[in-house]
Amino acid sequence: MTAPAETIFSRIIRREIPARIEHEDDLCLAFHDVAPQAPVHLLVIPKRVIPSLAEATAADTPLLGHLVAVASSCAQKLGLEDGYRLVVNCGSDGGQTVPHLHIHLLGGRPLTWPPG
Ligand code: 5GP
Repeated sequence: MTAPAETIFSRIIRREIPARIEHEDDLCLAFHDVAPQAPVHLLVIPKRVIPSLAEATAADTPLLGHLVAVASSCAQKLGLEDGYRLVVNCGSDGGQTVPHLHIHLLGGRPLTWPPG
């Protein structure tokens, strides 16, 4: 099976493109979005390329749980005690623009619902 195509996020992981990194471990990286939609807007990504949530498998369940746990710990570290939102855009209808699975962590202001 061929490896999924790399995106700009792989270049951020390799430090070929600068990013404000909040967290790194063996499995994932959390960094600030270049076009923040809230006072705090992080992206939490696995180091291994999974193009989207639709391509994650049952074997990825521990990794997906880890990404959520890291997002939650970043929220705590960044003082989002009034709450925050995690978003995973999946595919074209989901508004995904970068085909490397990522969780958006948004917070620092009241967020409205429903989304667009
Ligand atoms: P999506 O639309 O796929 O859910 O989210 C992709 C996100 O990646 C967008 O919020 C976009 O601003 C962010 N992004 C795209 N390119 C870069 C980049 O080079 N650096 C950083 N830090 N964020 C990026």
